Amino acid sequence: MNTPRNMTLTEYRQAMEQFNQTLQEDPDGLRHVPCGTMIRTKTAYVSVHNSPFPDSPCAGSGQCVVVEIPYCPVCESEPDERGCLHSLPQPLLSTEEQRALIANL
Ligand SMILES: [Zn+2]
Ligand SMILES: [Zn+2]
Repeated sequence: MNTPRNMTLTEYRQAMEQFNQTLQEDPDGLRHVPCGTMIRTKTAYVSVHNSPFPDSPCAGSGQCVVVEIPYCPVCESEPDERGCLHSLPQPLLSTEEQRALIANL
């Protein structure tokens, strides 16, 4: 899967779940079922925005988190090094809530 960009946490979780459904646990790690290749991960830096302006969702204060993005080196290209997640829709999350969400990524 690719690094989330301009996605909400919900969308990212859904993308992650969909990707997880194509994986199979193996003694050596995770395998991508469609092609039988072992999954790799790439470290990505993801900004978490909580912009109050729907037209410019990348504005607003945010925190940068380091996420390991799993991907298949055969079926997919390498995930982007940077991306962003949005805690929209409203209401805005408090810093505490953001931390809790980030801890679950
Ligand atoms: Zn953004
Ligand atoms: Zn694959």
